[in-house]
Amino acid sequence: MNTSLRYDWTEQELQEIHDLPLLQLIDRARSVHLQHHDPYTIDVCRLISIKTGGCPEDCRYCAQSSRYQTFVTPERSLDKEEVLKRAADAKASGASRICLSVAQRDVKEGAQFEKIREMISSIKEMGLSVCCTLGMMTEDQAQKLKEAGLTYYNHNLDTSERYYPEVVTTRTYHERIKTLDAADKAGLKVCSGGILGLGETKEDRLQLILTFAKRRPHPASVPVNSLVPIEGTPFAHREKIPLFELVRFIATARIAMPSSMIRLSAGRESLSKEAQALCFLAGANSIFQGNKLLTVQNRTVEEDAELMRDLGLKGK
Ligand code: SF4
Repeated sequence: MNTSLRYDWTEQELQEIHDLPLLQLIDRARSVHLQHHDPYTIDVCRLISIKTGGCPEDCRYCAQSSRYQTFVTPERSLDKEEVLKRAADAKASGASRICLSVAQRDVKEGAQFEKIREMISSIKEMGLSVCCTLGMMTEDQAQKLKEAGLTYYNHNLDTSERYYPEVVTTRTYHERIKTLDAADKAGLKVCSGGILGLGETKEDRLQLILTFAKRRPHPASVPVNSLVPIEGTPFAHREKIPLFELVRFIATARIAMPSSMIRLSAGRESLSKEAQALCFLAGANSIFQGNKLLTVQNRTVEEDAELMRDLGLKGK
């Protein structure tokens, strides 16, 4: 099977792949995976939230939006020493990439931006790769982050363009894409994914994969989140995404974007070890490590070490 990179996928093709009998789909995804990745190695990332809560955006799933009454209260920003200490701890427990997050609409230049640039340089000096998720940014800001040593920029599209206004109204899909373009132009690797279980249809999920699969280059990293319902948000009572739908999404993304890292992200806490193993078989090859993922529970570092031991996986 020719599994070279393609950028001309159609929705029809992706739908046919997605709807294959499940085991056939997994076999196909696995064979693509084997040709493009070391199947026994996964990318282990640690998320450090520099500033949590108090975000002006209205993402209807998010505990950090100041528009909803959730359990999150805005916290003061972490200082550089604390961030570096957490990065060192993450390295000691096997992480290869640190993702620095700030809950905000867009990048604001000034003292905070300079502090973040310093953090990036210092973490890079520790031998770790650095990703940032700081909201929308311009090409010039992307360039400044790249100069500081940033490798990846995370900016999720969440869902299809069609369904996006049901999820967020304070910005447009087009604005999100512009930030991905800015990251590409600056030579940053793009990390961009979605959330399953927002009330979207299968077609919306395929559209999301299609949007990524038609980008040249494909996002280097594609986080796949399952909605973790947050009390107080408009999406507090959405139905949980069935496991096989999650596996189908991962496998289809793996086939459409053979060389990207597919990261099993939020929602992993509710997946059994066996369910996670199935996701790895379908093409996932990256996880977020750490007891908490922003505001939601994650698998503990010890549980992940045990899972990796059981499956014979090692961190990069
Ligand atoms: S998802 Fe990000 S941008 Fe949206 S409300 Fe939460 S922190 Fe703000």
